[in-house]
Amino acid sequence: MIDITSLPAMDVAGRAGRVQAGLAAAGCEGLLVTKLVNIRYLTGFTGSAGLLLVLPDELLFVSDGRYGEQAAEQLGAAGVEARIRISATEQRQIVAEAAAALTTVGLEADAVTWSAQRRYAADWFPTAELVATEGLVDDLRLVKDDGEVARIEAAADVADRALANVRPRLKEQLSESDFGLELDTEMRRLGASGTSFETIVASGPNGAKPHHRPGDRTISEGDLVVLDFGALVDGYCSDMTRTVMIGDPDATQRRMLDVVAESQAAGVAAVAPGVACEAVDRACREVIDAAGWGDAFVHGTGHGVGLEIHEAPRVSRVSTATLAVGHVVTVEPGVYLPEHGGVRVEDTVVVSASGCRALTLAPKDPVLH
Ligand code: ZN
Ligand code: ZN
Repeated sequence: MIDITSLPAMDVAGRAGRVQAGLAAAGCEGLLVTKLVNIRYLTGFTGSAGLLLVLPDELLFVSDGRYGEQAAEQLGAAGVEARIRISATEQRQIVAEAAAALTTVGLEADAVTWSAQRRYAADWFPTAELVATEGLVDDLRLVKDDGEVARIEAAADVADRALANVRPRLKEQLSESDFGLELDTEMRRLGASGTSFETIVASGPNGAKPHHRPGDRTISEGDLVVLDFGALVDGYCSDMTRTVMIGDPDATQRRMLDVVAESQAAGVAAVAPGVACEAVDRACREVIDAAGWGDAFVHGTGHGVGLEIHEAPRVSRVSTATLAVGHVVTVEPGVYLPEHGGVRVEDTVVVSASGCRALTLAPKDPVLH
């Protein structure tokens, strides 16, 4: 495993205060955080069940008996001051009691199901007005602190080194799924706690499907192979795509590789604070449009990366987000042609004062002889 203590510390304990400072503007006196990744962000807790009630001047953390010890340890290690209550059956009463004096309680609108909302209204907070909030925690997660960037960078470094180690094996007539297993295993061997999503290995015609799942197809001479994968370090994700050409490309494959490389470089060059995400998408799209393959670039240009593999901001034609220093986003244009396969190149970059810095550094030289 990666030695987390060697990475810059994250200021986890400072985060809840920023949520509390945003409550009034969101129209609520308290917020029930139910999205686990947001609970992790605010407390350091990594378990699979928990609730966090953010009150104006205190935090109440509730979980069940599996997590009593872990919650105390992790919140303590993060320096988070919260009242911790552990119960399998009394969670509703504990939260209801703590929120009894509130006239308004915020819920995370994007993370609460309709049925859960009805339960909260009827049984948990019967005297309070429920407020649908958006982004109270997620918006804070947009800007990564140095500790977070270091974790994404460590994950990216693992992925870079894993690819370097296993890339030659693409010549060994492995199936897509066997090569994917090699890549995943190597990331684990180099210290990742897991993969940040299901690795994509898409060879030959399968490459024309942007999210192909690795299958039985044997990777062969003449294939373009799209490799899209990432590592997980201390909960943070990396995301990178490299396309490898097995042997010499034909004329169309060569042009696909060149156009996507140029498009991806144009997108990365466009990333800077104050720039609209839509403009980054446009920078990529213009190059591919000019090559006559606009219709073959069938997805958005990128997305935020952090505790989740896909998070805000989206980098697409319809995005209304603007980049700021500390945002971490991917730039991943592609061209997909059923008769020739697919080419995609993706880097994860962190927005800096002067532009951006790539966190994924694996070489982009595509041809493997
Ligand atoms: Zn990816
Ligand atoms: Zn991606």
